[in-house]
Amino acid sequence: MIDVEFRIVSDHRDGLMLGMGQIIMASGFEVLRPKISACDEGTLLAVTARGPQQKLLELQDRLGSHPLVRSFEARLPETALAEAGKTPVDAVVIASVPADAMPDRAAAELLLPQLARDYPKIAKKLLDFDRGLDSGKREATMRYVGTRVGAWLYKRDYTLGARLDLADSIRQIALPALRQWLGAVEASGANLRVSDSPFCGSGLHHGHSCHFIRGELEGLLNESGHLGRLRVVESECRNAGNAACVFEFTT
Ligand SMILES: [Zn+2]
Repeated sequence: MIDVEFRIVSDHRDGLMLGMGQIIMASGFEVLRPKISACDEGTLLAVTARGPQQKLLELQDRLGSHPLVRSFEARLPETALAEAGKTPVDAVVIASVPADAMPDRAAAELLLPQLARDYPKIAKKLLDFDRGLDSGKREATMRYVGTRVGAWLYKRDYTLGARLDLADSIRQIALPALRQWLGAVEASGANLRVSDSPFCGSGLHHGHSCHFIRGELEGLLNESGHLGRLRVVESECRNAGNAACVFEFTT
């Protein structure tokens, strides 16, 4: 068990405490000492979450993609630092997601109906959108748009299907969904391999560039709710000099 203090900044006071409480509990944590106050950027919710350390990344992921969250910081409380023999200055902040690294949700909301209308012919629209984003927000925003499209696609095409385990979900949901618009996609062991991602070579990204595809896979596989909370990592990318883009699934 670990205690982590979150300082969550939002533009909205209404529903903040309830919404964050639900996310914290859905990730397997208890909510302790919530306190809401005004701050320069809007509303600050300080709350301690107590729960299993191995679920902390999942909780941070959920907070980072919640529409009410403008930015957040996670800190270890001073008592935990004292037990670990550390002074507060050593390691108070264990995660910090500043407002400018959060997705540009307003821009995403304008794009999403167009993607739903044109799917699967979305590559050009996505590249134009990617080009128009602030460079600091590109990765977070493209991944966010991907999760929304993946979740929408799951609801449209797969909600009524059987409950599949992870391996079958990758083969029967993720693979055909990506093939619809990316063409050459192969399952390679437990991973997916995309040969010709349109996000490579655009000159917009240094290193790995296929953040939309990561997000789309996360949206497709997390929407059903019964696989836990999966994260997708792009372990190889053509934009970083690899032969293909490879996506790995971790829980
Ligand atoms: Zn790639």
